[in-house]
Amino acid sequence: MVVLNKWNDEDSLAAIDEYSSRGISKDLALRTYSSRLIGSDKELVLHGGGNTSVKTFETTISGDEVEVLCVKGSGWDLSTIEPEGHPAVKLKSLLKLKDLSSLSDEDMVASQRLNLLNPNAPNPSVEALLHAFLPEKFIDHTHSIAVLSIADLKNSEEVCKSIYGDKVAIVPYIMPGFDLAIHASKYYEEAKSKALKKGTELEGMILLKHGIFTFGETAKESYCRMINLVSAAENFLKTKINLNLEKRSVELATQKKLFEIMPFLRGLLARKSVKTKERWILHYRDSDLIKKIVNHEDIFEIANYGVATPDHVIRTKEKPLVLESFPDFKKDLLSLELLNQWKINTKDRLNEYIENYQEYFETNNNNVGGTKISLDPLPRFIFIKGLGMITLGKTLKEAELVGDIAESWSATVLAAKSIGIFSSVSEKEIFDMEYWSLEQAKLKKGKEESHNRNIVLITGGAGTIGSSIASRFTSCGAEVIIVDKDVEQLKITSKNIGSKCKAIKCDLTDSKEIENLFLKIISTYGGLDILVLNAGIALQGQMSTLDSEVLRKSFELNFFSQQAIIKKALSIFKKQDLNYSDNTFLLGGQLLFNISKQTLNPGKGFGAYGISKSALLALMKQYAIEEGPNSIRSNGVNADRIRSGLLTEEMITERSHARGLDESEYMKGNLLKKEVEANDVADAFISLSLMKKTTGAIITVDGGNTAAMVR
Ligand code: ZN
Repeated sequence: MVVLNKWNDEDSLAAIDEYSSRGISKDLALRTYSSRLIGSDKELVLHGGGNTSVKTFETTISGDEVEVLCVKGSGWDLSTIEPEGHPAVKLKSLLKLKDLSSLSDEDMVASQRLNLLNPNAPNPSVEALLHAFLPEKFIDHTHSIAVLSIADLKNSEEVCKSIYGDKVAIVPYIMPGFDLAIHASKYYEEAKSKALKKGTELEGMILLKHGIFTFGETAKESYCRMINLVSAAENFLKTKINLNLEKRSVELATQKKLFEIMPFLRGLLARKSVKTKERWILHYRDSDLIKKIVNHEDIFEIANYGVATPDHVIRTKEKPLVLESFPDFKKDLLSLELLNQWKINTKDRLNEYIENYQEYFETNNNNVGGTKISLDPLPRFIFIKGLGMITLGKTLKEAELVGDIAESWSATVLAAKSIGIFSSVSEKEIFDMEYWSLEQAKLKKGKEESHNRNIVLITGGAGTIGSSIASRFTSCGAEVIIVDKDVEQLKITSKNIGSKCKAIKCDLTDSKEIENLFLKIISTYGGLDILVLNAGIALQGQMSTLDSEVLRKSFELNFFSQQAIIKKALSIFKKQDLNYSDNTFLLGGQLLFNISKQTLNPGKGFGAYGISKSALLALMKQYAIEEGPNSIRSNGVNADRIRSGLLTEEMITERSHARGLDESEYMKGNLLKKEVEANDVADAFISLSLMKKTTGAIITVDGGNTAAMVR
């Protein structure tokens, strides 16, 4: 994949028109247009990386026209940026800072905020001063993979000179912030006058081991220079950049391996986190690029190369963990001995990684006077030789983001290796960046939610109650999988709930489908934490005349299929906690049952339903007893009279008329005189999931019904 020049004059004019109707200046409109072009190219920037600016004039509230630097605000992504994403800062005030001999990070941020035209604007980029100190109108900055491949070489200065001649200034590595801004402007001035003497134009700057800046009088000029300079680097590389971040499904044979690997790894990582039992969502991928790395004969050496640009260290740590090849299945069977050997080896490798990280922290923290607090020592991306890559995140989205950055790192090191010796920044420089308060602030933006890091499977997820439960769990930050037989309804429900909810079609009475369901869940998320048993069928009939087939069918879905899926979920919980006996460190798991009021207060004609659900209640208690020591909690919700697939509008009409009530009176027929809704049931499930010391319990959600009171 090569970078393409996507500039289109017509589109740029349309952008000016569109934004001017919102009172946006031509400069800012074009700034927005070309920033989006840059953002759309994953070879140039990824996930909020890179930054752009324009120097222009704006009018203050009091009517003064002032010169401003509109520079990317933190939290904005170039691919979707809007004009507000480039907050305006008074340029004169920023330029005054250039005379200072030093400036602390806190003062830098404070003076930038003080000079914002809009006090509510986001913080200007940590590289804002660099933009301010260069006397160029439009400036673009990316972490282009091709440029990093030549800027991360042992002899990168020499290589850059041979490719670009006097067209670019070359700036040695300095951590972003005030010092870099000052030094970069000096290198710029020198290179500018040198280029002038030679009759060439200075088009950009290569920041060694960091990235590239281009500039120009117009947005188009700066953008085209970016594409040209990046293309020149691309042409120089022997191994071409081949970044394809499209999602691909995982092959069945690989899914079977991941079923053994990922839950085990998830438990291991949780027990090694700084905070005890911190769960991680694991994400797997094996793109062509990743395959190249994990099959590379020098994989252990490559893994120690270090980051491609220090900007990535807060996402990926300095280096990946490499694990040995996973043993092959022989005729669908895995040798236990080989599996155990692999697990022991994996534990050793992880321990070694953690010890190295702790050593790195101790040494470098001592050098800065012991002022920092250690972050967790875990890797963020893990290579398994010959197989693929697993990444970690507190959400699936975050784990995928790490995956994208790890792929861009892989592309960079392979391309660099094709023309020379890769050489990253020093350990000290990595530490300074990883523990820089301004970088850490980027991670702290999204507050952690109660159910982040949790994987929740909900049966009967497409129905009214199931989808309410799914919706509540996703709004609390969980990753949710809904299963149902109804494919169409599944699609609608997962679309309504959003990207944190995945739908998988599954007939719970078919063991093969259950098998495939769990293979998919594990290869997508790495494990499981909560199983909500919500699927049910309400078959009716007087017991004396009930066809035994009806009773069997009822037990099949309401009891046996639930038991089958529980067994599978338990096998995952136990893989996560394998061979671990100290229960302070167990991840455990949760079983949450949707138990009907019929189990406590049976109604005439509902025997097939009520009796099978009573068996389910007994099952809930049985699991509480048998699995308590394994930290697996088992609880239920007893809900009644909820509008849903089991209590349809026709049934409500029929029953209310039979009692001589109108429908609303019937639905409010409880002690609180309030209709109970699917949301109320969902709230009860959330509450139970948070009650860490509760097992074997039933929460009643029926508005109050004396006959159904548990005690
Ligand atoms: Zn940068």
